Amino acid sequence: MATIPSLSAVPRRLEGKVALITGGASGIGECTAKVFAHHGAKLVIADIQDDLGYSVVESIGQTSCKYVHCDVTDESHVKNAVDEAVKTYGKLDIMLNNAGIADENKARIIDNEKADFERVMSVNVTGVFLGIKHAARVMIPARRGSIITTASMCSHIGGGSSHAYTASKHAVLGLARNAAVELGQFGIRVNCLSPFPLLTPMTSKYFGSTNQEVLENTFKSWGNLKHVTLKAEDVANAALYLASDEANYISGHSLLIDGGFSIVNPSLN
Ligand code: NAD
Repeated sequence: MATIPSLSAVPRRLEGKVALITGGASGIGECTAKVFAHHGAKLVIADIQDDLGYSVVESIGQTSCKYVHCDVTDESHVKNAVDEAVKTYGKLDIMLNNAGIADENKARIIDNEKADFERVMSVNVTGVFLGIKHAARVMIPARRGSIITTASMCSHIGGGSSHAYTASKHAVLGLARNAAVELGQFGIRVNCLSPFPLLTPMTSKYFGSTNQEVLENTFKSWGNLKHVTLKAEDVANAALYLASDEANYISGHSLLIDGGFSIVNPSLN
């Protein structure tokens, strides 16, 4: 009988791996950092909220986690964050391009200002381009790596949020798919996480509420999905899978974490 190597794997699924998480000081990024650390990864948290970033390091422990100030729209910052991971831990196995912002003015397309549109594109798209570029720079010589981008349900549908946010999340899916084809020859996998909305600082600001119940009822009513209660851990666990060697042959994929929202047939609700 054939042996199945993954069955003998240690329970710590990222033991010996080094991960860099942009936007790791809060929300999905913070939760994923904690899950990755629990599974044995060494971490670099890159963010612009320094106080929050240092508290994530404190809660994980300084021997396996460090914080780097990094504005993902600035190429020198992204390059520096990647170089810090290599300098501190010797390599980079996992890049999670997670930093992102919502379009807080919620303007209709005919009212939106070019500068507001470009601000969202700059963080959500240029930031991901730079993350993929600099992660690939150090992963190509190593001939391995997993690059993951936190995309969105809005990468797959229109109207789930503002036009700029939706456009930016469609764009990162294209970036990831193209990079998967381009970098596959070097053993680098590139994938996206595409979550349904969940309560984080970003969404509470966007929807104007920090009340879990109010926001959950809003999200659930969209698809009449009474059973959906998406938590940051659900997204973090999907990231864990894509980061781990268990996803060895998964590349160019967008993993929807939406409780079935995207396949709801409205006529059945
Ligand atoms: P969050 O606001 O809690 O976290 C985002 C983090 O990104 C923050 O720590 C913030 O400081 C950081 N950030 C923002 N601009 C940055 C910049 N220029 N450089 C570096 N860091 C920067 O929000 P979240 O909900 O955890 O969002 C994380 C990712 O998940 C985003 O890409 C978001 O679009 C995506 N997402 C969120 C949801 C949701 O419902 N919360 C759903 C789908 C996708």
